[in-house]
Amino acid sequence: MKYTSTRNTEIEINAAKAIKKGISDEGGLFVPAEFPPIEKREWEALIQADYKKRAVAVLSRFLTDFTIEEIESCTEAAYGGGFRHRATAPLMRLEENIHMLELWHGPTCAFKDMALQMLPHLMRTAAKKECDGRKTIVLVATSGDTGKAALEGFRDEPGSEILVFFPNEGVSPLQKLQMTTQEGGNVGVYGVRGNFDDAQTGVKRIFTDPEMLQKLARNGMAFSSANSINWGRLVPQIVYYLSAYCDLIANSVIQNGDRINAVVPTGNFGNILAAYYAKKMGVPIGRLICASNKNNVLTDFIRTGKYDRNRPFYATSSPSMDILISSNLERLLFELAGRDSNEVNRLMDALTEAGSYTVTPEMRRALQTEFAGGWCDEAGTAQAIRDTFRREGYLMDTHTAVAMHVCRAYRRETGDSTPAVVVSTANPYKFPASVLEAFEGDFGGLDEFEKLEELHRLSGWLVPEPLGSLRGRTPRFTAICGRDEMSRMVCERLGLV
Ligand SMILES: *Cc1c(COP(=O)(O)O)cnc(C)c1O
Repeated sequence: MKYTSTRNTEIEINAAKAIKKGISDEGGLFVPAEFPPIEKREWEALIQADYKKRAVAVLSRFLTDFTIEEIESCTEAAYGGGFRHRATAPLMRLEENIHMLELWHGPTCAFKDMALQMLPHLMRTAAKKECDGRKTIVLVATSGDTGKAALEGFRDEPGSEILVFFPNEGVSPLQKLQMTTQEGGNVGVYGVRGNFDDAQTGVKRIFTDPEMLQKLARNGMAFSSANSINWGRLVPQIVYYLSAYCDLIANSVIQNGDRINAVVPTGNFGNILAAYYAKKMGVPIGRLICASNKNNVLTDFIRTGKYDRNRPFYATSSPSMDILISSNLERLLFELAGRDSNEVNRLMDALTEAGSYTVTPEMRRALQTEFAGGWCDEAGTAQAIRDTFRREGYLMDTHTAVAMHVCRAYRRETGDSTPAVVVSTANPYKFPASVLEAFEGDFGGLDEFEKLEELHRLSGWLVPEPLGSLRGRTPRFTAICGRDEMSRMVCERLGLV
């Protein structure tokens, strides 16, 4: 399998290189040459298989320069013991033929683990093939969930160091504590004075600073990125859509070949793009339903064909979806444009220059055939949490609640009652303050851990160990820096001269 770039289809590289580089030199994203279909005769074995075997089946189609032993070993390392549920990504059936795909049983209680438990192993294997012997320095700017998941994934990974920058005032107390208490000998965590954009800009600047790159090379090191545009993060995400479909058949909810809809709470467009790729491989997904919070740039795009980031930015109770530039959308545009990189360049230039672009009528039609979009405000989010808990005893986090709201609205508006898989992206205890607010009562005076307890009292759901055990822990990392000090922090940490 070869990979090309969304902005230059002359490029042709293998998977190891695509994963190692993360992003193409001209700024494009790597995409596989094709999406190999699952053959009819393969389904029966997949339905019988466990999650790891399903992962091997998907990964081996795309990572053809990896041996099957390498893929099996990466899969075992990722999903062998780190997840608290036997099924890794279990499905929970609710009324109305809605099925919750729970992606938060990993070590950090958010869906980023599904890919970030795998990425370090893919990177190590890729580095071995490229065999330049340089130490990998992973730099991450995070709004919360990615940072912790990347730290857990890369901790004590031989031949790598990971440095995470988070907005000091921009993450929840629990998210901050998750990161600042991180264990491992190769990790560094820094609060940045500013918001997520400041942290992100600082990291991008370090990535492209020629002086810094020279210093690194002199010291036998190279930067790498663990953010969601890396192909090595996307490919493990295709697996759980295939897996959910197999489970629905195994549980006799559907018959092989029946259609399902997928509803995905969306920020950077990585998760829902993986669903689209699964569909291209033959998983019978009808509608891909893209759910946004009040930052509803994608809803407008799907409805009108115009992407316009010139709009107010809202901080919401689903912070991992507070995003106005969805990086992975570029990969969808590439497919919608018939893999025409000139068209992608035109659109991306317009986005940089004017903050907006409009796709051609053909692209818009193709988009609307596959996708539906909807969004949900803060009251709707709280209501979805409350109603679903009252009716079904099922507790959702705020991001998942956005998807649930959009799912119900979509069904009301269209009458499409196809069985729906709603993607559940975080354990509700990861956002205790916002989830608790959905219920009646005065919780104002409680600290974060008292809120966890209160939520436990209300729901009876177990507090996951990785969150409960943070109570009383002393932060190991306390450094706070300004945006302009980030590169100095990197040099000090790595001993660069
Ligand atoms: C990252 C994240 C999302 C958004 O996923 P994308 O792949 O960026 O669209 C949704 N929910 C949670 C809890 C997340 O951490």
